[in-house]
Amino acid sequence: MARSGIKLWVRDVELFLFCPMVFYFSVVLGMETPKGYWADLGKDIQQDVESIISERFEIHAKEFEIESERLGVKGKVDFVIKDGRSFAPLEVKYSYSLKPWWKYSAVLYGILLEDTLGKPVKRCNLYLTESNEFKIIELTDENRKFVESAVRRCFEVLNGKTPKPSKSKSCKNCDFRFQCYEF
Ligand code: SF4
Repeated sequence: MARSGIKLWVRDVELFLFCPMVFYFSVVLGMETPKGYWADLGKDIQQDVESIISERFEIHAKEFEIESERLGVKGKVDFVIKDGRSFAPLEVKYSYSLKPWWKYSAVLYGILLEDTLGKPVKRCNLYLTESNEFKIIELTDENRKFVESAVRRCFEVLNGKTPKPSKSKSCKNCDFRFQCYEF
């Protein structure tokens, strides 16, 4: 699937899932999004939430690098936890609610972990710090197909296909809203 030598990061695919135009501006054109408050805050809170996560799960690894040669995607997952006889990814998000694109990036982390370890992964986990909630996403065939199709579409845009904007209520907070309206 991947062009030889090119690897996307999970966060690149996450941008595509948020809006293909954001992926285009950020990944294809290399336009940077301003680093905000949340990005800095995230690192500190990540240390604090580790104790909460370890009360519930056995932590196997932290900031663990995973990749799928087959998909041409790599990433660094916040935590790898024990899930029965297997392992599962766990991502920390500094939010009250689960955004749809996080659900699918969690699935992508699951697929990458599976390809890295060579062992089946059944579930992917998210921890929402602001609501103190754990969310479990099943690694179903349907979720896999959706995410693998999104990765294919990312590579199509990298190869020159024009992306379509995905207008939503998130547009008003989008870092590229001014460029997007001119496009
Ligand atoms: S303004 Fe909306 S449609 Fe345009 S890039 Fe941002 S999220 Fe996508």
